This record gives sequence, C-alpha cells and structure tokens, in this order.
Amino acid sequence: MQDFSHIDTWVFDLDNTLYDAERHIFDLVATRMTDFVADFLKTDKEEAARLRKHYYKTYGTTLRGLMTEHNLDPSDFLTYVHDIDYALVEPCAITQGGLTRLPGRKVVFTNAPKHFALRMIDHLGIAGHFDGVFAIEDAGYWPKPQMDTYHTFLYRHGVNPKSACMFEDMEINLKPAHDLGMTTVWLHGTEQNAPADDLHIHHRADRLTAWFEQKFK
Ligand SMILES: [Mg+2]
Repeated sequence: MQDFSHIDTWVFDLDNTLYDAERHIFDLVATRMTDFVADFLKTDKEEAARLRKHYYKTYGTTLRGLMTEHNLDPSDFLTYVHDIDYALVEPCAITQGGLTRLPGRKVVFTNAPKHFALRMIDHLGIAGHFDGVFAIEDAGYWPKPQMDTYHTFLYRHGVNPKSACMFEDMEINLKPAHDLGMTTVWLHGTEQNAPADDLHIHHRADRLTAWFEQKFK
C-alpha cells in the first residue's frame, strides 16, 4: 500500500466529501428532481419516482436518462433541481484548515452542475484552494463512474493519475480512479461495508474531516 508522499494533486468529489449533503441537500434535490420529472413528462409523483429509479439504474443519473430517452435540455433540469438554499450547509473549519495545510494542487471532480459546485465551495469558504472544478457539463453529462469521464477529467486538468489522490464517498467511483493508477480514499460515513473485491479502496476514513485530523494530528 502506497502512502501519500508521492501525491502532488488532490482530487475531491463534492457532495458528501467536501460537505455533508446527507443532512438536508440530498432530500431537497431528490424532491425537486421528482417534481421536475413529473412536470416534464406530465405524470404523477409516484410514476416520476419510479422513472427516476429506472434512469439511475440504466444511465447513472436521472438527468442522463431524461436526455437519452426524452431529449431533455440539461440546463433546464440542472438549474431547477439545484436551486436550493446554500445556508442549509454549514462551512466547516476543519475542512478549511485541512485544505490550507495540505500541500499540492487541488481540483474538484463532481457529478453536480458547475454553477452549484462553484457556489457551494464559495459558500463553504474553500473556493480559493481549488485550481479547477470539473462538473457534469464538462463530462458531457456522463457521470462518474463512466471511465471516459475520468479520461476527460485527467486530460482537461493535466493530472497525472500516478501522482494524484482521489477522495470519494461512493466507493464505486473509486474503481476507475484505481484502474487509472490514482491513489484512492473512500470516505465511508456510516456505511462501512465495502464490496468483497475492494482492491480499488486504498485508504479509508469516516469522513474528510477525520482524514485531515489523522493526517495533521
Ligand atoms: Mg459524493
């Protein structure tokens, strides 16, 4: 197992990595997605919820499903579903301090839309630490863990995977990262059960704040 001494670029997922989305944001966004699907396809909420599950399973996101099956304009969707109150999320001093002390380049790699990611890191008081934000628009709306999206990300930001470390709360998103030679940290939260073939998980921490506390203790 390699340590972190060879790392010059730190790659961070956004939701449930750089802040805790579990508490308010995910429910809000999920509700708004269901409302959007119901309105867009002129159906009831129950059918909309069923369709969202189908899109998620087949395409990885509700957005990609609507685009592929119904030619949706992604900007309508992204603007609507992520129009939430940022004040629901509290900036975290440990994350701010950890990013300050962590030497090297930092980049955000998220399945969220660009305007949301930029506003959120600004709200969290950590925008100044990041060299770039790679969002779902940059990925042609193909979310992680699509391998092509990782290639686009690495190329766009000139990241050498051999000296990059990626933090993620969704272990499945670390598989392509590992396959490309990146070092990985799984932020498992309360869900500690990794799959049996978990070679793509190099390091683990409860959450990012715990990893920072461990690293800088
Ligand atoms: Mg996440």
